Amino acid sequence: MRLTIVGCSGSFPGPDSPASCYLLEARHDDGTGERTWRVLVDLGSGALGALQRHVDPLTIDAVLLSHLHADHCLDLCGYYVMRRYHPDGAQPRIPVWGPADTADRMARAYDLPQEPGMREEFDFRVWDGPVDVGPFHVEPVPVDHPIPAYGLRVSADGAVLAYTGDTGPCPGLEDLARDADLLLAEASFVSGVENPPALHLTGTDCGEVARLAGARRLVLTHIPPWHTPDVALAEAQGEYDGPVELARPGAAYDLHG
Ligand SMILES: [Zn+2]
Ligand SMILES: [Zn+2]
Repeated sequence: MRLTIVGCSGSFPGPDSPASCYLLEARHDDGTGERTWRVLVDLGSGALGALQRHVDPLTIDAVLLSHLHADHCLDLCGYYVMRRYHPDGAQPRIPVWGPADTADRMARAYDLPQEPGMREEFDFRVWDGPVDVGPFHVEPVPVDHPIPAYGLRVSADGAVLAYTGDTGPCPGLEDLARDADLLLAEASFVSGVENPPALHLTGTDCGEVARLAGARRLVLTHIPPWHTPDVALAEAQGEYDGPVELARPGAAYDLHG
């Protein structure tokens, strides 16, 4: 399974990165021939532009939304236009998994009538237990954020990617990240100041989860442009002895079991 960081800026796009978006690719034969399957984990502000540097967006098989904050879902608006009005003709519906309100939320975001909203372009499905998309087995784990939000544990090719989405510290994170080959964890906050509860993680929190869960590698993401990424990196390194690095747009990771 290949993970490509499309966007990793926290809460809003930064000068060098869109907001959250991660491309996952793996080979798979579903009976119609082997090909590369592609899913997007989140599609935040600005990410649809950067995605075009990596793949033809029309080759995406599904979109997996962790939650419905703008920095994780809003570029579904542009993607709706691309699929609906493409000069080659309207593209087939693809599934979009998300929290219960996703279809209505996206209709509001584009100022569409609630019916059909984007339902003719996207087959909206609600997170309600594990799902399979081609080679990807995806387990949603409820996390602690002001709106319904999920961490995602994705398995393919015998490898496991754990993505925290946005969350405050919560018990589910350790299970989410258990023995993961790569833990992609959000480090929005810095330690040592009064952070609001139930919102985001610090680099220290990320390092602690990685250590307790036995994750093999930690990649810190979702650092807002107003913070210094090296602070989060140093915090995580203080808690976790394994390899830690900062997510960078365009970075790719090949994960094998
Ligand atoms: Zn966010
Ligand atoms: Zn959020």
